[in-house]
Amino acid sequence: MTISNLHDMSVAELAQALHSKKVSAVEVATDFLARLGGNPHNAFLDIDSEVTLAQAQASDARLQAGTAGPLEGVPVAHKDVFVTRDFATTAGSKILTGYRSPFDATLVQKLGASEHGGAGMVTLGKLNCDEFAMGSANENSAFGKVTNPWDTARVPGGSSGGSAAAVAARLVPAATGTDTGGSIRQPASFCGITGIKPTYGRASRYGMIAYASSLDQGGPMARSAEDCALLLSAMCGPDLDRDSTSLDVPAEDFTRALNGSLEGLRIGMPQEFFGEGLAADVRAAVEGALREYEKLGAKLVPISLPRTELSIPVYYIIAPAEASSNLSRFDGVKFGHRAKDFTDLVDMYKKTRAEGFGNEVKRRIMTGAYVLSHGYYDAYYLQAQKIRRMIADDFQNAFQQCDVIAGPVAPTVAWKLGENANDPVADYLADIFTLPASLAGLPGMSVPAGFGADGMPVGLQLIGNYFKEGQLLNAAHRLQQATDFHLRQPEGLK
Ligand code: GLN
Repeated sequence: MTISNLHDMSVAELAQALHSKKVSAVEVATDFLARLGGNPHNAFLDIDSEVTLAQAQASDARLQAGTAGPLEGVPVAHKDVFVTRDFATTAGSKILTGYRSPFDATLVQKLGASEHGGAGMVTLGKLNCDEFAMGSANENSAFGKVTNPWDTARVPGGSSGGSAAAVAARLVPAATGTDTGGSIRQPASFCGITGIKPTYGRASRYGMIAYASSLDQGGPMARSAEDCALLLSAMCGPDLDRDSTSLDVPAEDFTRALNGSLEGLRIGMPQEFFGEGLAADVRAAVEGALREYEKLGAKLVPISLPRTELSIPVYYIIAPAEASSNLSRFDGVKFGHRAKDFTDLVDMYKKTRAEGFGNEVKRRIMTGAYVLSHGYYDAYYLQAQKIRRMIADDFQNAFQQCDVIAGPVAPTVAWKLGENANDPVADYLADIFTLPASLAGLPGMSVPAGFGADGMPVGLQLIGNYFKEGQLLNAAHRLQQATDFHLRQPEGLK
């Protein structure tokens, strides 16, 4: 039996069809590979149909043998900051041109071949992103911009822009992303899909090219909360030997949390998230979603996160500080690009880095080195660390009054390509609603909440307390049962 429109099916539906042998992994992979021709939206950075088909054949063998993983044969694609043995990895940077990792990142392994203990997903390729995950619009990729499937004149968000665009355009049913200050939630919001960043430390960072290690967290992006729950269940769990900040918290089957009642759930609305800077269309969609929650039995509670505005300077001190240290390893010796003409070792370092890094990365390395330097460390870095702790405390105070926090993901819908090209600070400011949860290490997600100006998608952000991913996914799932925003697709999509 053949199923038409495989690309319209959810992860859950595909897994079911594969397990019941209505379709084979090779058929599914072939269908999706055919959609990648011409690389729509410039979403992919590496595609290798031979590798994908070989993985699909191995999945079919396991499906036949009865040794299949839960997501056996379902396609996935990885943000290009996850290292992969079978595909190139660039992190969106020229400096990693030609680099091939000798191993797979833990999350790639956990989602991949079930013979290695993974969920059995088949990798379609690697997804475009901002260089080293620095950006909010995917305009900082060294390999070209990604366009938003809802309006190709607009950005898909960033830094996981390729992941969001690929899922929205049904080029892949689910993808991985990483979120340091919003990079799963914001592109999910801009492209009308669902994404979750788990609690910091809950999913391994091993093999995720580091941007800001105390903030970086991988997570899934898919069309529905149910699909995110399926992937996240496979992604979480301790990796203590390989990631020193991995938490010793067991993996969970998050699908079990779905369909819980929302009766009496207290949803906190931070007043700082609904102030002046919020565009009217985004506000209207978010408030509409909150009314749905009231219908489902939840209670809205006004709360305050008083240091929300400070999260911007705090994040843009701490993240560059960590980046300046993390990126020192890219010096032309061990990985990727090396300058051709140089006079001595130091000259080789300088030329390699000058040629290999893009402007935004250089800006952040310089900012980071400055805030860490003798004489400024106390004034900037140390102060930022203190305020970071206060921001985390503010959340704990808020969680005395509510169970889940809700608000917008971003102040506006996706902006036009090039609009902020000469104004990096405009991009930084637009991160205001996603940075606080990142600084506190809390789980956060974006759920399609409706449409704003020019029919562009709007995401609702849900933030939970530590380890409450199940509660967030359930809340998102219940909204998705009551609405159809996550099922709509961009006009003109084939
Ligand atoms: N926009 C933020 C930044 O540029 C967040 C990026 C991210 O989460 N990776 O740093």
